[in-house]
Amino acid sequence: MSDSVENNHVPSDFIREMVAEDFRDNKFGGKVVTRFPPEPNGYLHIGHAKAICLDFGVAAENGGYCNLRMDDTNPTKEDTEYVSSIAEDVRWLGFDFGDRLYYASDYFDRMYECAEKLITLNKAYVCDLTPEEWDEYRGNLNIPGRESPGRNRSVEENLDLFRRMRAGEFEDGKMVLRARIDMASPNIHMRDPVIYRIRRVHHFRHGDKWCIYPMYDFAHPLEDAFEGVTHSFCTLEFEIHRPLYDWVLDALGFTFPNRPRQTEFSRLNLSYTVMSKRKLLQLVRENYVSGWDDPRMPTICGMRRRGIPAAAIRNFCRTVGITKFDGLTDVALLEHCVREELNATSPRFLAVLDPLKVTITNYPAEGVEPLDAINNPEDPAAGSRKLEFSRELYIERSDFMLEPPKGYFRLAPGREVRLRYGYFIRCEEVVYDEAGNVTELKCTFDPATRGGSAPDGRKVKGTIHWVSGASAKKAEVRLYDRLFTTEQPGADGVDFLTELNPDSRRVVTAYIEPALAELPAGTAVQFERIGYFAVDPDSRPGAPVFNRTVTLKDSWAKQQQSGK
Ligand code: ATP
Ligand code: MG
Repeated sequence: MSDSVENNHVPSDFIREMVAEDFRDNKFGGKVVTRFPPEPNGYLHIGHAKAICLDFGVAAENGGYCNLRMDDTNPTKEDTEYVSSIAEDVRWLGFDFGDRLYYASDYFDRMYECAEKLITLNKAYVCDLTPEEWDEYRGNLNIPGRESPGRNRSVEENLDLFRRMRAGEFEDGKMVLRARIDMASPNIHMRDPVIYRIRRVHHFRHGDKWCIYPMYDFAHPLEDAFEGVTHSFCTLEFEIHRPLYDWVLDALGFTFPNRPRQTEFSRLNLSYTVMSKRKLLQLVRENYVSGWDDPRMPTICGMRRRGIPAAAIRNFCRTVGITKFDGLTDVALLEHCVREELNATSPRFLAVLDPLKVTITNYPAEGVEPLDAINNPEDPAAGSRKLEFSRELYIERSDFMLEPPKGYFRLAPGREVRLRYGYFIRCEEVVYDEAGNVTELKCTFDPATRGGSAPDGRKVKGTIHWVSGASAKKAEVRLYDRLFTTEQPGADGVDFLTELNPDSRRVVTAYIEPALAELPAGTAVQFERIGYFAVDPDSRPGAPVFNRTVTLKDSWAKQQQSGK
């Protein structure tokens, strides 16, 4: 467990209070065991991070542990590629599952035994209604369901049929095993739900060993019980399944303290994002993004590539908190957490994204001079480095205006500005190309202003960043923005693909200070006055590539200040 997980205070919530109460009552013999149970059919996203922080967090806070369990009982879409990415992402988020990476499918034998036991107890039966009959027998909210003829078969007959189902004697869909509960229950899930079905599909771990597979509602409580899980957290849509979760455990004789307890919390929904795996897969398959780890994706690997630190994701999850109410979380809050973390931890550098050439006419042509620059004003231990000043410089095109409006304190004809860590310079002459575009500024510097102040006390209001033309390197900089233009892409029946932001990725060639060109992939930095950036794995020696993580403008903090 990384430092920041342990050291930061986690505010309490209804789940943490419940666990504390169970602890006081000794309901589980003083143990807290949880699990995170992803289905390995996609990459983890920021919504999963919320569940991970809860599952691993509650266990760690109570001296317990959390298992990572692949929920691979539904064999069609699962894949080992997903398994390894999931394990990697959980570790990267800062959580430790030790050697407890489990697979639900490894319990198939035990689940099968449990199913036979239910039949023996006359609590399950084989049903061979046709699909048309199913509809007719199910009933609806107002009409109770009807009993399937199979319901009154003898135990011996049911056992025989179920064994033959397993042996592959029947076609897919021909028969199912159902729990014998209550066809009149107002909760449809309790009307003799299916617990096993016949499916001849290859399982990525168990090949063709099985042609019958357990249903989630039967499998999940058993997986939890087999692993000695005490608290099983899931999202709100499973609330209505809880009576069945409890029924399975009751029917098979699991009692406290050796019986898990399910509790539901609201899922994370984030604005300007989609999180359904189906939609994320579509974005990848149809090349709207470059892959699962495209820096615009809400996946953990996408966020990592974008430069978002794990600590920022944990802080975000902590700030969102755990409740029973569904809501839409503003992505600006996530961005705020990212800025807070990066502000404290990332070294500052100078980079110019849209270069405009400046010639310092009174500086010697061959002259090069080292200037001291602070690495991180938030972290004195980060030290300082040298910048090179020279006759030819580049500044940001937006830091110059021919006709500056009121309140613009940067460079303009005849105006003076401070270069960060350098001198005051004055714009003496503007050079144009034939089309009338500004191509260069001829400036003079004041040697007496080294370090950023004038001995004669004259002031300048603007400070701008720059790089030395003599030593700057080129870099590809990928400017990412939100992937969608609407808060809830795909709401109200709109096709979510029509709401993709056409400007979510823009690539520019920047000039960067030389030290930036040497950093290993994954390094997070601040380009002063511009934003936070991370070195992309596509970087090559001599050809650095940066991803913009976030800009410096914090719309969340602004909203909070204005009380909105
Ligand atoms: P999908 O419905 O898109 O396939 P899922 O929720 O079924 O996604 P799982 O892999 O089954 O995905 O999820 C693993 C765990 O993560 C579950 O316990 C689930 O409740 C939790 N989880 C998934 N999405 C979110 C979310 N947006 N917010 C909080 N928890 C989530
Ligand atoms: Mg699921």
